[in-house]
Amino acid sequence: MDADIDRIVLTEEQIQGRIRELGEAISRDYGDEPVLLIAVLRGAALFVADLSRAISSPVEIDFMAVSSYGSSTKSSGVVRIIKDLDESIEGRHVLVVEDILDTGLTLKYLLKNLSSRSPASLEVCTLLSKEGKRRVPITCKYVGFEIPDEFVVGYGLDFVERYRNLPYIGVLRSQVHAEHP
Ligand code: 5GP
Repeated sequence: MDADIDRIVLTEEQIQGRIRELGEAISRDYGDEPVLLIAVLRGAALFVADLSRAISSPVEIDFMAVSSYGSSTKSSGVVRIIKDLDESIEGRHVLVVEDILDTGLTLKYLLKNLSSRSPASLEVCTLLSKEGKRRVPITCKYVGFEIPDEFVVGYGLDFVERYRNLPYIGVLRSQVHAEHP
């Protein structure tokens, strides 16, 4: 375990096992229909890499990058698109892939924006969800894990851009937060 991690919340085995189940559910639902996975950078990059390989339906992948105004640990709901999709999503089955759903404000903005582009369908798959923190209702068809309201890192999730490469998800030692106020 990394020295900065206080406690592991989800092990690599738990994460990979759940991704296999999500992949099976998605493959069952879409069948032979092509599905376009839209991953939200940067956090969901690792998740989409593993999730896409667990799906047997025809898959395409595109990326979007958004920035939330305000501090890095609090969502303001005001979102700016930094990198847009490379292709049109009109008439396509779109599955937005997110690392973590917290207040839901970022995703609400994104879904409104994407639905205005007339996809054939629009669903969400998030690895983690903090139900207790939700400020806007979001229909999320595929949820990996419900977790309590704690700031977690690893498996794509960062703290000041670090720890994304941890294969597990954990809570940082409070000392690390204090060093980067
Ligand atoms: P929301 O708009 O749902 O509040 O914010 C979602 C975004 O906040 C996530 O995509 C992620 O970037 C960030 N976030 C929320 N909770 C956590 C957390 O526990 N750890 C990390 N590293 N980022 C988080």
